[in-house]
Amino acid sequence: MSRKRVVVLGATGSIGESAAKVAADIPERVELTGLAAHRNAAGLAAQANRFRPEALCLVDAAKLPELQAALDPGYAPRILLGEEGLVELAATTPADIVLIAIVGTGGLRPALAAIEQGRDLAVASKEILVMAGEAVMAAAAAKGVRVLPVDSEHNAIFQCLEGHPAKHVRRLILTASGGPFRTASAEQIAAATPAQALKHPTWSMGAKITIDSATLFNKGLEMIEARWLFDVEMDRVDVIVHPQSIVHSMVEFVDGSVLAQLSHSDMCFPIQYALCWPERVPNRLRPLDFADLKKLDFEAPRRTDFPALDLATEAGRTGGTLPAVMNAANEIAVAAFLEGRLGFPQIWRLVERTMRAHAVTVHASLDEIIAADAWARRAASEGIG
Ligand code: MG
Repeated sequence: MSRKRVVVLGATGSIGESAAKVAADIPERVELTGLAAHRNAAGLAAQANRFRPEALCLVDAAKLPELQAALDPGYAPRILLGEEGLVELAATTPADIVLIAIVGTGGLRPALAAIEQGRDLAVASKEILVMAGEAVMAAAAAKGVRVLPVDSEHNAIFQCLEGHPAKHVRRLILTASGGPFRTASAEQIAAATPAQALKHPTWSMGAKITIDSATLFNKGLEMIEARWLFDVEMDRVDVIVHPQSIVHSMVEFVDGSVLAQLSHSDMCFPIQYALCWPERVPNRLRPLDFADLKKLDFEAPRRTDFPALDLATEAGRTGGTLPAVMNAANEIAVAAFLEGRLGFPQIWRLVERTMRAHAVTVHASLDEIIAADAWARRAASEGIG
């Protein structure tokens, strides 16, 4: 019965707050030794005062006085600052696992630093594996480090695969809630506003991922993430819409049998599994009541009305720098949509145009991937005008 020492990057985001709930629920199994936030000094201080980690990091150094003023008297953690502080926190705080839950691409360098130090990763930030899946998984394999998935779908597949060799797998089936426009007409989708797109039917998450759930780019990113996490070709990663978000994903084996993982849609389930793996630990989370659920629905995704799945399949199949370009263009497009500078369907158009304009480098180095990411941000921004 081991107690895992955990560093959380992105402590005040929705995944970080759920990780804090897990640590509070099973303190004998999870100890938070390092916490990092972007600029939410008050939120970081509240967690720090509660869990007393030995080190903290605030990316926005201007918020340091606010953090210091909010820490309990007599509690003096090591405080790191800036993007460099994230890398140092991930590499030097005593830890068994580093949970990467930062929105966007900021988690990549800290993730590689943690791997370099032989720490296991719990990955919630899709961007790390979408952009640099080949490089990150190779680095982890070379160091004998585990990459434990926190995203509910990948965590489900990870659970279903436990004990089964890769040659027994026919395909991975990711479930998708379908987002707020699952049953909307093409006209309604064309006129969708940020307020409508931000209303997710089953999960409560940050703004970027909620818009990604409405376009289905979130599922597209997850397809690429699955391709690298589980080392299967893109054509064996499938998607099925499941509006209740109870079945979190499935694995179909070569004999036609399917294993699925089910729970309520609460991120504490996958976070706890990743942090406690390979053990299962009793907790206070609400179990499923099948008589109460009554039924689970499944339907094919509307690939023509939601082109993100086909774009992601193409990016994942091509590999190299193309997934990073798709991801970066999507980030720019989502920000512009939220600011009212871009219509909802133009998110797909802008990503597609940016992908078409990109000259792909296959088996790209990390530097080439970072350069492609920067190029795509510029190209997409110029495309908005
Ligand atoms: Mg997910």
